[in-house]
Amino acid sequence: MDMRRILVTGANKGIGFAIVQAILEEHDDTFVYLGSRDAARGQAARMALKPEWQARADVVALDVSEDQSVARAAEQVARSLGNEKLYAIVNNAGIGTGAGASLTKVLQTNTVGMHRVCERFLPLLDPVNGRIVNVTSASGPSFVARCSTAMQRFFLDTQATWPRLQSFIDECIAMDGDKPAFAAKGLDDGEAYGLSKALANTYTVLLAREHPALRINACTPGFIETDMTRRYAESQGKSPAEVGMKPPSAGARTPMHLLFGTLEGNGHYYGSDAQRSPLDR
Ligand code: NDP
Repeated sequence: MDMRRILVTGANKGIGFAIVQAILEEHDDTFVYLGSRDAARGQAARMALKPEWQARADVVALDVSEDQSVARAAEQVARSLGNEKLYAIVNNAGIGTGAGASLTKVLQTNTVGMHRVCERFLPLLDPVNGRIVNVTSASGPSFVARCSTAMQRFFLDTQATWPRLQSFIDECIAMDGDKPAFAAKGLDDGEAYGLSKALANTYTVLLAREHPALRINACTPGFIETDMTRRYAESQGKSPAEVGMKPPSAGARTPMHLLFGTLEGNGHYYGSDAQRSPLDR
């Protein structure tokens, strides 16, 4: 049987791990490259899979914020593929600002990291049936809604290019910590997470335009209880369910649709008001 081989980044926990479990459970003809920036955490996650699934999962050390790491990961996957191609890439790895990460770190991980992975792994992707699923966030559209009209045009530009996005990211990094500078540019207070996800959505649109034969889309997983969000419930003195969080398995549903479902088109962002969270300002 031909296997559909899928890379999932940030797959050692949270939504990424739930996506890996859903893939292996629902599709016998799949093999997963479980991306983890820390190989030991990746191995532990693999061992936490049902024993009967473990033969269909390999750990790939992959730190999306490091060129060398992504290059090495692509070499490892290329060797493993031999003459085969990847069926899909799930760009799930991401960080929030809750743990005190700087705007620079958040952009480098959530936006530039996504681009880095796509650049290295696109040559390995099936050019006919290949899919890319970018796990972004409702924080992206929320951020865009708070920007000036000129900046909204920038984010929603269907003719965006990566060099333009990269030079905009460089500008933002130069303004890291300077809220008035962000406001003067029409970027609200320059909230790092929303900005990074807005740019990831813009990137998804340009990537889909550049690769019309592939199925490339972005989505929000919904408001999901993970290490990234749990602190919010704690800060409210409530349980995760009481603040509307769903379990990681629920966060895997939209990515699974974009991976295996019949899709209307390309370059779309899949989200709804029902999937917004109180953290999406
Ligand atoms: P978690 O913090 O549980 O998981 C994040 C994953 O990303 C971990 O595996 C983490 O690895 C990994 N990661 C972080 N930085 C890097 C890096 N530089 N290179 C590779 N992997 C990295 O969060 P979630 O599961 O909640 O988040 C998954 C995705 O879903 C993120 O993109 C997030 O922005 C998005 N999202 C989540 C929402 C939610 O409600 N939870 C809502 C909207 C979007 P490690 O264990 O080493 O830290």
